[in-house]
Amino acid sequence: MYDWLIVGAGFAGSVLAERLASERNERVLVIDKRSHIAGNAYDCPNADGLMIHQYGPHIFHTNSSKIVDYLSAFTDWRPYEHRVLAKVDGLLVPIPINLDTVNKLYKLNLTSEQLETWFAQRAEPVEVIETSEDVVVSAVGRELYEKFFKGYTQKQWGLDPSALDKAVTARVPTRTSRDDRYFTDSFQAMPLDGYTRMFSRMLDQPGIDVAIGTEYSEIKNRISFKRMIFTGPIDEYFGHRFGRLPYRSLRFDHQTLNEEVYQPVGVVNYPQTEDYTRITEYKYLTGQVHPKTAITYEYPSDQGDPYYPIPRPENQALFKRYEQLALTTKDVWFVGRLATYRYYNMDQIVGQALATFAKIDATVPRATQVMKPSLVATGGARPSVMAGA
Ligand code: FAD
Ligand code: UDP
Repeated sequence: MYDWLIVGAGFAGSVLAERLASERNERVLVIDKRSHIAGNAYDCPNADGLMIHQYGPHIFHTNSSKIVDYLSAFTDWRPYEHRVLAKVDGLLVPIPINLDTVNKLYKLNLTSEQLETWFAQRAEPVEVIETSEDVVVSAVGRELYEKFFKGYTQKQWGLDPSALDKAVTARVPTRTSRDDRYFTDSFQAMPLDGYTRMFSRMLDQPGIDVAIGTEYSEIKNRISFKRMIFTGPIDEYFGHRFGRLPYRSLRFDHQTLNEEVYQPVGVVNYPQTEDYTRITEYKYLTGQVHPKTAITYEYPSDQGDPYYPIPRPENQALFKRYEQLALTTKDVWFVGRLATYRYYNMDQIVGQALATFAKIDATVPRATQVMKPSLVATGGARPSVMAGA
């Protein structure tokens, strides 16, 4: 009998498995329907020995030293500051939009102060910023919005920015400086030996068994466990009983090129042209030296694995109905990007998993203590019944 079944070997599932096994000496089975651990952060060498990210570019960045300290037990780091260019009007210019973006695109020579005025002259007043269109037009005006955001967002989400919550485009700031880093977090680095290696160290603990290629619905009645952590889509867990939560998917076209370098930065975005949204060249992310180079095209799609929850008010309302059900489902914790239906970055998922562990540790008696009547009587325990859908 396992103390815990954990569905999903991504960040949410793996962090919780490690915590439960290391801190509470509990027996944990981690399953994943995919043929590997690490969830969407999975990386591996391709046929030519070039490291790639199977599910698109994953760049680690955070402002939380607690999260860095936690992960640093399982990996060393390679400093990496991500830079992205956008192909706009035939030019490659920095995104987030900054001083150089505007000067290059409009053949100007503005200073930062002049750019502030330039933006202010073009920005459209928006009384209450609600949508992803509002965020951008209220900052830089409609022309830059159309060049950089409208087409990209329509491709990426299959929706106009005016139909998406403000949080989506608010991920990409506007700057009047020349800072061309995609992120400004205090910690920006990649796991030195890759994500998958970091995950395998995390899961390599006494008490943890891992079963890949294992779908939850197919094994749930064949495995004995007391409690469960579910990190797959929450609507799937509940049999879609209130209807399907929409997710956006991607098709990844991975290619190896017989040239040493393909593009000037790790990612180039295509907001105006092409069916794909962006091309990633992994060498920049990994630091690998190789005579060939590996790139990936990302084609958005509404078919395929669920990658992105879609931030819209009606989707959030539907999620809330599932969340209510989840709160009354004994002995099952819902954690991660799909189970909490939030457009979270990796560090936020690590934070969510660590917070969930703290909650579990404060309310669930440790398995090794369950046999001691004095400790069972301290309250807060959930009955240890078999969990299941
Ligand atoms: P996942 O990694 O999705 O893991 C969930 C796992 O559960 C999956 O492996 C799945 O196979 C498994 N599973 C689901 N249902 C079942 C079932 N029924 N039975 C068995 N197994 C099941 N974040 C960043 O911080 N920086 C980035 O640069 C970045 N880039 C990204 C780029 C792309 C293209 C995508 C899609 C995401 C990106 N992210 C990035 C976000 C990051 O991927 C997530 O925050 C993180 O992977 C979420 O971890 P998770 O454990 O919640 O989910
Ligand atoms: N976005 C855009 N143009 C760009 C970059 C981003 O319109 O050149 C919008 C788009 O809607 C995208 C969102 O901003 O989905 C968030 O961008 P981010 O790069 O954070 O997306 P992710 O890496 O999570 O796919």
